[in-house]
Amino acid sequence: MIKKSIFVVEDEEDILELLRYNLTREGYAVSTAAKGEEAVKEIPRKLPDLILLDLMLPGLDGLEVCRALKKNPKTAGIPIIMVTAKGEESDVVAGLELGADDYIPKPFSMKVLIARIRTVLRRKREPAAEKNASIRIHDIEINPGRHEVLIQNEPVEMTFSELRILHFLASRPGWVMTREQIVDAIRGEDYAVTDRAVDVQIVGIRRKLGPRADYIETVRGVGYRFKEQE
Ligand code: CA
Repeated sequence: MIKKSIFVVEDEEDILELLRYNLTREGYAVSTAAKGEEAVKEIPRKLPDLILLDLMLPGLDGLEVCRALKKNPKTAGIPIIMVTAKGEESDVVAGLELGADDYIPKPFSMKVLIARIRTVLRRKREPAAEKNASIRIHDIEINPGRHEVLIQNEPVEMTFSELRILHFLASRPGWVMTREQIVDAIRGEDYAVTDRAVDVQIVGIRRKLGPRADYIETVRGVGYRFKEQE
């Protein structure tokens, strides 16, 4: 089997070495850069399978690196996991909206990080469901074409926006979606939903999901995520 490659961008030497050691031990081929400028130059040459990107970097910071990589067609498709410090929620939101796939706050456990990496690498092989494709996850079935939501085969009444938002989140289980991404996903339909209104819609969806309300997780300061199927 070909080794998956991970490119780590991290300016703290201790953390960089720890990551290099552990990821190598997990069987990944690891390349690194300590500076944003270097990452932007090296990543298009290496074309890794995944990028682990510290946001707080001297010089070109993580968000700028993310923006540059997502703008370059050669690197736009490479998944990025942002490594963030406490209190960087607004940067997390910005990064997700730039196209980063996930984030992990420092300090992190190596075990959790490796699980995230595996999830993100796996996800890439499964494109999200089409806008009108029906989804079955946990014990819920969402069928936008028929405007139907079934929980354990029992229909649940939902408005158009509720169904669209639920479908969007459920089509990417485990992904954190910002309010802006949710708005974008359902824009262009017959109704308008603002950032703030997303929260109101989520309240409505959760109420209708009843005991399954916790399928939609709030990611504080960032957005919402549909619970992954175990
Ligand atoms: Ca740093």
